[in-house]
Amino acid sequence: MLENGEVVVRKPGAERVRRGHLWIYRSDIKDVRDVGPGGICRVRDERGVSVGMAFYSSKSQIALRLLVRGDSRIDEKFFQDRFDRADRFRERLGVDPFLSRRIFSEGDLLPGLIVDRYSERLVVQSLIQSTDRLQPLFSSIVSDRYHPRSILFRNDSRVRELEGLPLEQRVEGEALPQIITVNEDGKEIAVELTGGQKTGSYLDQRENHRAARKYASGKTLDAFCYAGGFSVQVSEKCDRVEAVDISGPALELAKANAERNNLRNIDFVEANAFDFLRQRFNENARYDTIILDPPAFAKNRDSLEGALRGYKEINNRAMRLLRSGGILITCSCSHHVPESLFAEMLADAAKDAGCWLRVIERRMQSSDHPVLMAVPETHYLKCFILEIGS
Ligand code: SAH
Repeated sequence: MLENGEVVVRKPGAERVRRGHLWIYRSDIKDVRDVGPGGICRVRDERGVSVGMAFYSSKSQIALRLLVRGDSRIDEKFFQDRFDRADRFRERLGVDPFLSRRIFSEGDLLPGLIVDRYSERLVVQSLIQSTDRLQPLFSSIVSDRYHPRSILFRNDSRVRELEGLPLEQRVEGEALPQIITVNEDGKEIAVELTGGQKTGSYLDQRENHRAARKYASGKTLDAFCYAGGFSVQVSEKCDRVEAVDISGPALELAKANAERNNLRNIDFVEANAFDFLRQRFNENARYDTIILDPPAFAKNRDSLEGALRGYKEINNRAMRLLRSGGILITCSCSHHVPESLFAEMLADAAKDAGCWLRVIERRMQSSDHPVLMAVPETHYLKCFILEIGS
């Protein structure tokens, strides 16, 4: 048994988790009894009724993250079951077992834990106090399950600071090469596990890369390309692809990925995408396909307005740069921009550009990043595939 102690929560907190959310904020905590930082505890409402079992954080504003409703024993078997369910879910959806996210935190009812599998290497991220304490257990579970040559604990995400946890990386098993290659839908892609963005790659965009391949043609712009995830997948469908990123090292990865796959029609441009779009517009350039996959512009609620202005600017420019009948593939990975707001912004941008938008696909993050309906925070990536009309 791993649990210990009890936390009593006020009504709004109890109601929130009864509606299916997993978080209880510190302001809804009434009493903490015998629970230390990162403990696993029983949660009760003020009448003493058990609400569920949860991870407790002594620091974060999110004081409790529910593991299960009602009374349950939290032991190794409980966590093995969670991993079983996560594996079965992915198997049912036909997710590539060798290149996928195996555990997506709240989406897999394992708050604070991320496990990504890159063939024989695993990248594990622990984001909260409880998952830090349970690291030896998780390490043994994933070793038995996936038999990796190495496990990289990439505990350098800034969100750990909210939990008072240090930022660090540690490898178990074989030392990691600087770059490994994986096969993404028939293309060899380099992944920089220790230094790259995210856990080395944007696994969450994999299914959108695949969808983009279906619609891309002619002259294509891949703005915010990172290692060329979209460019490499669409290249054979296009006459030419321009891949733009502000980061030199990202473009080096993208170039190497193009070479590795013998793709010769991609031009790489190191530029601020905002300036690039403006410049191409001034030059009267026209495209058949534009992909916009910027970083999260809204890091918190306060920056929402500015973020929407940013999204609108690039989308409006892209709409003006596309030929009638052209395809816009546009994404937002900001947690704080719900899909409805993103759609509204797109309609607004289209009004200013004087064009129609026809929705071809309304997509989200890849299915190995499951969304819990009652936890909107788990649905963070929005992706619209649109046809532009005049
Ligand atoms: N499309 C990629 C992931 C993109 S991540 C894929 O599918 O794999 C976002 C990228 O935007 C990062 O590589 C970052 O370097 C780049 N970026 C951030 N701000 C930028 C800007 N103003 N102009 C161009 N690129 C930018």
